[in-house]
Amino acid sequence: MRALILSDIHANLEALEAVVADAQTCGGFDVIWCLGDTVGYGPDPGPCIDRIREFDLVAVAGNHDHAAIGLIDASDFNESAKIAANWTANQLDHEQKEFLASLPLVAVQDTFTLVHGSLRAPIEEYLLDRNSAMGTLAILETQYCLVGHSHIPFRCLEIDGDVDFYDFTEDELIEMTNNRQIVNPGGVGQPRDRNPRSSYAIYDSTENNLVRHRVDYDILKTQRKMVAADLPSRLIERLGHGL
Ligand code: ZN
Repeated sequence: MRALILSDIHANLEALEAVVADAQTCGGFDVIWCLGDTVGYGPDPGPCIDRIREFDLVAVAGNHDHAAIGLIDASDFNESAKIAANWTANQLDHEQKEFLASLPLVAVQDTFTLVHGSLRAPIEEYLLDRNSAMGTLAILETQYCLVGHSHIPFRCLEIDGDVDFYDFTEDELIEMTNNRQIVNPGGVGQPRDRNPRSSYAIYDSTENNLVRHRVDYDILKTQRKMVAADLPSRLIERLGHGL
């Protein structure tokens, strides 16, 4: 079984299509594991939801998914995220909203637990340091955990009761060891590691390995749609910088 691991699509259909096409040419996939924030920020929230639902799909909710359907209050968001969240809410039809409302906060697949932010605060906490990693490992019931939310790719290994963060290097085949591990595949629709190309990962259960790829997409096309939708310029510009 091969799982296409996607996080933070953020309503960027051009990025999503580029990732799906790239994954299909790089060995294909049987299922999508989606780590949340399918909507928010970008110009195509409804089409992104419909597209991932065309595949076998296991998905969890992100904070922007919940903001789009009023499950959390967007007033905690920064100004441009708030504007985008309100805009997004008006773009979704009933079925798309029902889909977002149906998403669990945590899902378990094989040896993996899927969550947007962290296990101790699934849609709030950014897992980026020792403290947050230890907090998740303390309650992790599977061998591995997949997270998104920060849009920063990394691997975090538990070694002798402590943790070590590693680069999740592009195109490097990672053999999954017995160490418990937390992995972030990076962001599909709004990468924030100063690389504007879409980031995603593939898990192969037969080989028990993981690989991360990056792919170019038509950033200008997404940006033009955002201009047409009158979305905040800060959100439009950041796509070009990978921030
Ligand atoms: Zn996000």
